[in-house]
Amino acid sequence: MPNQPKRYRPATELVFVDSFSDDPNAVNDPYHASSVPIYQTATFKQTSASGSGQYDYSRSGNPTRSAVEIHLAKIMNAERAFVVSSGMSALDVITRLVGAGEEIVAGDDLYGGTNRLLTYLSTYMNVKTHNVDTTSVSAVEAKLDPFKTKLVLLETPTNPKIKIADIKSIAEMVKAKCPNALVVVDNTMMSPYLQKTLDLGAHIEYHSGTKYLSGHHDLMAGVIGVCSQEIADRIYHVINATGCGLSPFDSWLLFRGVKTLAVRIEKQQTNAMLVANFLEANGFKVHFPGLASHPQYELHKTLSSGPGAVLSFETGDIAASERIVETTKLWAISVSFGCVNSLISMPCRMSHASIPAEIRLQRDLKEDLIRLCVGIEDPTDLIEDLSNALVFAGYSIKN
Ligand SMILES: *Cc1c(COP(=O)(O)O)cnc(C)c1O
Repeated sequence: MPNQPKRYRPATELVFVDSFSDDPNAVNDPYHASSVPIYQTATFKQTSASGSGQYDYSRSGNPTRSAVEIHLAKIMNAERAFVVSSGMSALDVITRLVGAGEEIVAGDDLYGGTNRLLTYLSTYMNVKTHNVDTTSVSAVEAKLDPFKTKLVLLETPTNPKIKIADIKSIAEMVKAKCPNALVVVDNTMMSPYLQKTLDLGAHIEYHSGTKYLSGHHDLMAGVIGVCSQEIADRIYHVINATGCGLSPFDSWLLFRGVKTLAVRIEKQQTNAMLVANFLEANGFKVHFPGLASHPQYELHKTLSSGPGAVLSFETGDIAASERIVETTKLWAISVSFGCVNSLISMPCRMSHASIPAEIRLQRDLKEDLIRLCVGIEDPTDLIEDLSNALVFAGYSIKN
């Protein structure tokens, strides 16, 4: 048995790469480069006719990609991790574990793109999705079919309604009631720094690496972490077969981003707490798991070590929401989140516009809802800018 490498606290693990490990599964650059080089090559020359080198073709494997995968597996407490070309690509790979006639049970407040892919699967591939309120373990249980259900797909907190799914209880229930199903968590909103879903019982955790993991909105990536070698082999097979592995340059950029995840998240969630308190003190209905008024405040604390930095609030007036969003200067109007700078949006007009209006209504997704993704700026400037926009939209504000 090789010695288990020493484990450090999360912020240390994000930065530390053991460049002198003799473990063949560690990040091993022959020159011990502090920043793993970008192996910008499609092919690798072989020494024998049977081609037995560790790498041969970058679709199948590339040292820069391997380095970030090994690092992320450590961060996620995963048996293995994989990086692919986007978050949606990660979900595409995972859903290929589902066969025609099998079913998915998923939340009813899903990322817009997830909804689009699941709709495609039900329209063209005979894979049906049941959308349920995942804040209720029994609502999930009611849709499980031991013969058909292949995936239980969770997001927590959900976006933009910021509802919490009890990953731990759902995973236990699924393993007991439906042992053939895999519990899959989209952990993009929390990042592995705040929430480790494989430790909570999920089989597969995935991320849009475009968000917190990279942190600067300068690349697109997806990350998949799995709990067993068996699932890893199936996921690798799909990635190699379809060719969606992350490019060497983007793998390098993602690796660089991950190293600052702790400092970014700590600052972003401190700022988010201040913004949430400011809005709540001014009478707005705020959705944020860091507020004691959140209906699942206690539950969230059992799953995650912090509230994150995405919140939403209601104004009760669509026109006022539009005015607020268009008046802020520091808060850029943009989809996405997880970037160092702050963003503002109306989900029903942007990120969630692909969900038909009647389904948005059915799911009680408020058209006036404003989502804030809080960055690392000085919080006084952020609150001042928001306050100015609220005053312009007709609200009286105390700071
Ligand atoms: C952005 C996002 C995705 C999709 O990731 P891309 O990198 O944009 O493909 C999936 N889930 C959540 C929660 C996201 O925010």
